[in-house]
Amino acid sequence: MSEIDLRSDTVTRPTKGMLKAMMNAQVGDDVYKEDPSVNALEEKLASLFGKDEALFFPTGSMANQAAIKLHTQPADQLICDKWAHVYNYEGGGASFNSGVSCKLVDGHRGMITAAQVEENINPPDFYHSPLTTLVCLENTTNKGGGACYDLEEIKKIRKVCNTNKLGLHLDGARLFNALVAKGESPKDYGKLFDTISVCLSKGLGTPMGSVLIGNKDIMKGAMRVRKVLGGGMRQVGFMAAAGIYALDHHVERLAEDHKRATEIAETLCAQAYIGEVEQVETNIIIFNLKDASAEDQFNKILQENKIRISALGKGKLRIVTHLDYTEAMHQKFLSVLKNISL
Ligand SMILES: *Cc1c(COP(=O)(O)O)cnc(C)c1O
Repeated sequence: MSEIDLRSDTVTRPTKGMLKAMMNAQVGDDVYKEDPSVNALEEKLASLFGKDEALFFPTGSMANQAAIKLHTQPADQLICDKWAHVYNYEGGGASFNSGVSCKLVDGHRGMITAAQVEENINPPDFYHSPLTTLVCLENTTNKGGGACYDLEEIKKIRKVCNTNKLGLHLDGARLFNALVAKGESPKDYGKLFDTISVCLSKGLGTPMGSVLIGNKDIMKGAMRVRKVLGGGMRQVGFMAAAGIYALDHHVERLAEDHKRATEIAETLCAQAYIGEVEQVETNIIIFNLKDASAEDQFNKILQENKIRISALGKGKLRIVTHLDYTEAMHQKFLSVLKNISL
């Protein structure tokens, strides 16, 4: 058996079927908007979410950064959770690319409430404070361990945004995990958000690519912003074809990743050497060892069994299940966990 890599759902390699779809893709120069596969992917996602338009980006970070730029002017402020990817893991891009600051909200597992959004809006007439213009949510949450929003709370946040004339962006890097876990539809989200970014390269298993989705009014500047960020690509239909294949074949199967993640969490909970295990809702498991000083020993045992997981710092460990994590690997991993004593 090859190495069991549970660091992230980005470690997957294209399946045979996906590679075949990529090799057979019709392509053209996407900077001229002449790549039929990219156009087909963008149309497919726009219509799936009930929006006018979608635009292909090389990365999820770039799609989020473009969205922030489209919604804001320099010196504005956006509201997000303190753990948000747009704030923590995009290299400070919000300030560099858009000249905006982030008002960080102390949410729960990366999720914030409508009341918290409301409290954190600066009064628009008070010119000493930055002007609040945007709210960014994340679903599922990355640092929050794959937690999913309650759609009712998002509806309330939308109302607050309407009342206060704020844009609402969703970092939906793993939105399909939330849709599958909660039995929700993309159109539910299309109705509530002005812009949505989704990653094709996470649970959906493509080599690269993300898409930003929105209506014409907000998306009309998106090509220019992508250009400014350096993200125009040429015959990128090979990658878009992988995305189309993933949307057709890899969405429903996310339920398998969720099931295995739940089984891993249950097994962890039953081990004497494990401390807290956060509740699993999708494909991410965050946990602590009972004795944080045993982390090196724990990792060494996993390494000896060719198993890799992530350390998040401060004794937190992370496991992410994905397309390339097979049932045989799962059974081996569970038995390794059961046989460890620290
Ligand atoms: C992965 C991820 C992104 C995008 O990351 P890229 O590596 O730039 O594609 C954005 N938001 C969240 C929550 C993510 O997990």
